Amino acid sequence: MSTEQTTAIVLRTVEFSETSLIVTLLTKDLGQVSAIAKGARRPKGPFEGSLDLLAVCRVVIIRKNNDSLDILTEAKLHRRFRGADRSLERLYGGYYVAEMLRLLLDDHADHPDVYDLTIKVLQQLDGTGPVASSLAFFDLQILRMLGHAPSTESCIDCGTSLSLEARIPFAIEGGGIVCRSCRSRQRSIVMVRAETMRLINVIQNPNLDAPIPISNNHYGELRSVLNRYIQNVLGRLPRMQAFLPMIAKNEFIA
Ligand SMILES: [Zn+2]
Repeated sequence: MSTEQTTAIVLRTVEFSETSLIVTLLTKDLGQVSAIAKGARRPKGPFEGSLDLLAVCRVVIIRKNNDSLDILTEAKLHRRFRGADRSLERLYGGYYVAEMLRLLLDDHADHPDVYDLTIKVLQQLDGTGPVASSLAFFDLQILRMLGHAPSTESCIDCGTSLSLEARIPFAIEGGGIVCRSCRSRQRSIVMVRAETMRLINVIQNPNLDAPIPISNNHYGELRSVLNRYIQNVLGRLPRMQAFLPMIAKNEFIA
């Protein structure tokens, strides 16, 4: 057993008993952690409302060495996620981020870059940032950080550098663009415009540190490829993906 202090983002809370919650946290230093918060459901419990979804807290966690759950002993609220006060799109954007993190991250795998990215994206959603463009930025950056970046410059099969012209075959299962000769060996090909591939390339670049506004012209195709690509990486459909068109609606009035 060891006691650790770190900052954390609340990704999910589940009722555990009449007085306790199981909390899933994305921590800055310990990766994703599930811990029991004893007394968290009592009206004047030790956590005083700090365990709201997407709240950022300073936490103290007792780590267990065996299979039993870690214990959350303190959570001091730094910042509440106020997406709900601003708009339904911002709230649902927050839900989408929380779900993607839970589905993509393994417990205890340490990803400080993913933590920093999430803080940045929540600030956009919580403030005046473009919601749909911020979510595309989040998706492409986290996929890259976790080793799932789609190949946008060379064939996934033979490695040949490809010039991005007209429409390019993109293999959803293969994980990126594919040349004419390797194409027949790939299943689930979608044809993607060269400018959309270039945009994916820009948005997943490690040096990009804030979302870039995506034009109405490019968003539809980008989101559609990304949705199918993410479903393949996860092996399932994220529940909040169905809300993305509604989230994007006000941002992309032609
Ligand atoms: Zn090839």
